[in-house]
This record gives sequence, C-alpha cells and structure tokens, in this order.
Amino acid sequence: MKLFGKKNENYTMVIGCGRLGANLANALSDIGESVAIIDKNPDAFRKLASSFGGLTVTGDATEISVLDNADIAKATAVISVTNKDNTNIMVALLAKKMYNIKRVVARLYDPDCECVYDEFGIETICPAVLSAKEIDKFLPEFDLSEKTEIAHTERDAKQKAGQLHTAAGAGVKDGGAYE
Ligand code: AMP
Repeated sequence: MKLFGKKNENYTMVIGCGRLGANLANALSDIGESVAIIDKNPDAFRKLASSFGGLTVTGDATEISVLDNADIAKATAVISVTNKDNTNIMVALLAKKMYNIKRVVARLYDPDCECVYDEFGIETICPAVLSAKEIDKFLPEFDLSEKTEIAHTERDAKQKAGQLHTAAGAGVKDGGAYE
C-alpha cells in the first residue's frame, strides 16, 4: 500500500464516496496524488475506478477514531461532500480546529449555513447558489441569482455570520440532512 502524508507531500482526504466524492478521489488518484476516502457504506466504494490507488476507510466520518484511521492529522486538505450538511459541517470543524488542517472545504445544501462557516475559515460550496449563478449565464437580463430566495438567504446568513463573529463562543448550527 502507498504511504500517505509523507513530509512535503500532499495528502487529500475526501469524505463521502457519492457521485462527487468518488469522482474527486478518482481524479486525484489519476494525477498521482495521495488520497484517502471515507464512507460509512462500504458499497459506496464500488464507484471508485479499478485504477484507484488511494486508501478507503469504512465508517462514520463524524467519529474521531474513523478520522484517525484515515490518518487525518497528516492531511493537507479535507473535502467533505457527504449528503448531510451537519456531517460536512462537523467534519470540517474538526479538521480545521482539532487537526489544524489549512485547506478545508464542505458542501452545504442549505445556503443559510454557507456564510456562517466562512467565519471559521472553512470554504463552502452550495449547489443551489452555484446553479442559480450558472442559470444567470443563460438569462443574464433577469439577474435571477440576485432575486431568488437563495440570494436573500445568503444575505441573511452573511448578517448572521457578522453577529456570530462578534458574539463570543458561537456554536455549530444544525445543518439538516439531505438524502
Ligand atoms: P451523494 O449523495 O451521492 O453525494 O453521496 C453521499 C455519500 O456520503 C454516501 O455514499 C453516504 O454513504 C456518505 N455519507 C453520509 N453520511 C456519512 C458519514 N457520517 N460518514 C461517512 N460517509 C457518509
């Protein structure tokens, strides 16, 4: 088995072996990067290419022992793309705050959570926001992404993030599940 996280080597950890996670892990492996992927469902690893040369770890990624089995402490980047916002948030916060990983990105379905996590230095991607922006390219005259409920939610979240930033000891907001 390949050695992971050697000094000066990139080591990327992907959480969730769904369509997106498996594709990212396959692509990283294809370009010769060290990669580990975690999923609670071992069948999910069937989505990995036969050429996948990384590590697969079965388990709930919100459990420290599972993250440790995948050697998260040596990761240079963590990408959390399970189908549950609260899982992605928890893993991202653990990676950032407990393991001090510099580059952490989480997929969040609920745009309400997105800006709040910017405050913790966690990059977030929200498919609904990205989709609205892409649709704008087809119908630029309407500027729809600015007028949707999503845009309003994003603005509210930014405001909330500002309030959280000033209030000491802000906690984790429950992000909800999308299955
Ligand atoms: P998809 O909806 O296709 O992006 O797939 C999401 C993947 O995330 C599925 O394979 C789930 O089994 C996985 N998943 C969901 N929750 C967890 C968790 N707590 N730990 C590890 N994997 C998870």
